[in-house]
Amino acid sequence: MAARLPQTPLSVGVVRLVGATLIDGTGCPPLADSEVELVDGVIAYAGPRRAAVSSVSSVSSAPSIDLTGAFLMPGFVDAHVHLSMVPGDPETQRSRFAEEHVLETASVLRTTLLAGVTTARDLDGLTPGYRDAIARGSAIGPRLHLAISMLSPTGGHADPVRPNGSLPAWAVRPGMPTPGVVDTDDDVIRTVRELMRMGADAIKVSTSGGVGSPTDDPADAGLPVEHVRLVARLTAERGGRPVTAHALTDAAVRVAVLGGAASIEHGYDLSDETIELMLQHGTVLVPTLSTLLRTLDPATTSPAALADREARQRRGLDSVRRAVAAGVPVALGTDAGVHPHGRNLAELARLVEVGLDPLAAIRAGTLGGARLLGLEEHLGTVEAGKQGDLVVTAVDPLESIGELADSAAVRMVLQAGRVVKDLDGRVPAAL
Ligand SMILES: [Zn+2]
Repeated sequence: MAARLPQTPLSVGVVRLVGATLIDGTGCPPLADSEVELVDGVIAYAGPRRAAVSSVSSVSSAPSIDLTGAFLMPGFVDAHVHLSMVPGDPETQRSRFAEEHVLETASVLRTTLLAGVTTARDLDGLTPGYRDAIARGSAIGPRLHLAISMLSPTGGHADPVRPNGSLPAWAVRPGMPTPGVVDTDDDVIRTVRELMRMGADAIKVSTSGGVGSPTDDPADAGLPVEHVRLVARLTAERGGRPVTAHALTDAAVRVAVLGGAASIEHGYDLSDETIELMLQHGTVLVPTLSTLLRTLDPATTSPAALADREARQRRGLDSVRRAVAAGVPVALGTDAGVHPHGRNLAELARLVEVGLDPLAAIRAGTLGGARLLGLEEHLGTVEAGKQGDLVVTAVDPLESIGELADSAAVRMVLQAGRVVKDLDGRVPAAL
């Protein structure tokens, strides 16, 4: 079974976008004065502007959008987000009604889409109702692939329980999925099958500890290799959903790669041997640099914590730079939720900082993500046959890629050919 394409309502009819410089997501050089034709939401033509449009049927009278002076790219894929994670005091959030959370999450979904992210993979915290509501057209947001919740041992990164048995406020917000705490083969089998029954598109495992979980540390081990293998076998039995691993240490990355994970989230302490192992297995790195490099407030952070953070950032950057230089495939992911929502394309400039050229960074944010999700047949490039997910900007990404961090720099967004953000930066009233 192929990966499920989360649908959004298709536009009906023919739309032509002419005159833009096309950066098609394949990594090929930009094409000036391009033409892209969408028929019923799907790309029918992408290439040099045609002198005379074929007189076949209605095409010649199709509405044409003049994008002269602008840049046209595929809709972006953020392969690591937490869209139900919103800023604010957790105790206050806990006292709210469930509907307030749902509506706030709906607002985050919209913000993310308008920033140019037409597809996102949520790796913990979002339940399938959001994905399905977007597919039905009752909310706007990125097409979604979901892990729903992640797997770790008791006391690991997925386990929110504090030493005294209590739960932190963020863990008991209404609508949060059940954490995937697994210690035995039976736990793994039941939890993975339950996630697949709920409609998970990917399974996320933690092979290291994490930052911010109550009782573990990034250096701690998470799921052992036998359990990662078991997860990979269980997903293979039911349609082949990708397994992805939160892994902060070199040992954790090895466990994930040897266990069959398709991708590594973070990967901040890679040895050259492990990079070699990733190359052998074709493992993708999602370095979430926006989150690694975020600045902490010196007013509320201890000097020791700030120094520790700086050391982690240096190690992380060095690790990712060596992986990129060695040729490990990269997909764009931000950890949005930790990183501010709606600034997803800030990651493009971060990817350039670690050695990708701007075209390769855009490819990591489009085709790279689509491949990781198993959706490259439908998404990730501007080519005939693919969904009409497109982003228009006046910013030249080869010159000023950092400016795309600001959602206002994304002038227009189309999803399945439907304009969800118009050239004035507004959501059309019909949505
Ligand atoms: Zn995350």
